[in-house]
Amino acid sequence: MKISGSNELLEQIQNNNLCVGCGACVGICPYFKAHKGKVAMTFSCDRTEGRCYAHCPGTETDYDVLANELFNKPYEEKPIGNYIKIYGAKAGEKAVNGSFQNGGTVTTLMKFAMEKGLIDSAVLTDSIDMIPDPQIVTKSDEIGNFSSTKYMASPTVSKFNEAIKMGHKKIGVVGTPCQMKAIGKIKSNPLDREEFKKPETFLIGLFCTWAVDTKNFIKLLESKTDISKIKSMDIPPPPAEVFILKTETEAIEIPLDDIRKIVPEGCSLCPDMTCEWADISVGAFEGRSGWNTLIVRTKKGEELINSAISEGYLTVEEFPDENVTHLTKGSVGKKKRGLAKREELMKSMDQNDNGSATAPSVVGFR
Ligand SMILES: Cc1cc2nc3c(=O)[nH]c(=O)nc-3n(C[C@H](O)[C@H](O)[C@H](O)COP(=O)(O)OP(=O)(O)OC[C@H]3O[C@@H](n4cnc5c(N)ncnc54)[C@H](O)[C@@H]3O)c2cc1C
Repeated sequence: MKISGSNELLEQIQNNNLCVGCGACVGICPYFKAHKGKVAMTFSCDRTEGRCYAHCPGTETDYDVLANELFNKPYEEKPIGNYIKIYGAKAGEKAVNGSFQNGGTVTTLMKFAMEKGLIDSAVLTDSIDMIPDPQIVTKSDEIGNFSSTKYMASPTVSKFNEAIKMGHKKIGVVGTPCQMKAIGKIKSNPLDREEFKKPETFLIGLFCTWAVDTKNFIKLLESKTDISKIKSMDIPPPPAEVFILKTETEAIEIPLDDIRKIVPEGCSLCPDMTCEWADISVGAFEGRSGWNTLIVRTKKGEELINSAISEGYLTVEEFPDENVTHLTKGSVGKKKRGLAKREELMKSMDQNDNGSATAPSVVGFR
């Protein structure tokens, strides 16, 4: 697998509009910066191999390396990834209440993980004036401040890079599929750097169909309301086909088709809906408001969840077979769309320049 440098990253990913703004290339050198939801290279660099390229979720990826890192076995292509168990879940009676997006499973488990000493820090995502604002948190009672979904593509992985630099050894991260894939690549130390100190991680993946481009999202929201008045956002399950903004006085519906227009091109190549590269993955429980779907993927995730259940921090119920079927269908649908888009892109690259320089980049989205 060829690892290139920042110029190839620009040529293959940024210039093809495939950057999903995850922040994996930010915080490891002076050149890449995140600004208002966009990631940009501020100075040129002539290294022929760089971590920016190696860690990007859009560049070629060896899935066996990621699977060995997380599951201790080679990659097996499965509709919703590797898993041990699926639950319906929500914050239990001992958990602190909060303005959760769905059942509060994510906030509760991250807080529980810190209180139990599984992690010494957590990388979480807030927003300021609708601009995603990832941060490193070291006090468990601050974790609740980050609850709720910010639907914008966020440079969350930049803070994982920073947490490693700061010397944190047990890092929790909540993130979307592209962010988790980048974290798997970072942990595998693809450039074999001797000074790299691999942290222990506890990874909570979020289901994701797409995120939106921050700048265009703000423009769209400003055309609907005063954005300082927005209290929450949600996407009700199908067949609603709307995005809902809630202020203190009203609920504004935006057709999902208007939102889809501002999804970064890179999201359309992603084949991962259930966030497969994580210890546990969490999404909405369709048809069960106030609950989450919780996929337990690793032994570490299973142990934490069992303790959280037995200590009253998490309430779970069986996940019905028909919901597993529905989830599988949705996940396979995203894989098919991602692969089809990738084929289309590779063909167009072939036509443009015989595919020589740019085609390998999209292999990372298989
Ligand atoms: C961009 C995006 C798209 C999503 N699409 C789907 C979907 O299609 N189907 C589905 O079932 N679920 C989707 N989700 C997940 C869903 O919205 C909830 O996050 C999930 O159900 C957990 O609910 P909760 O109540 O446990 O979360 P909470 O307890 O409220 O915690 C939310 C957590 O999400 C983190 N977070 C918020 N925004 C971001 C972000 N942009 N990047 C990284 N981390 C973030 C925060 O740090 C916080 O820890 C999406 C999430 C995101 C961020």
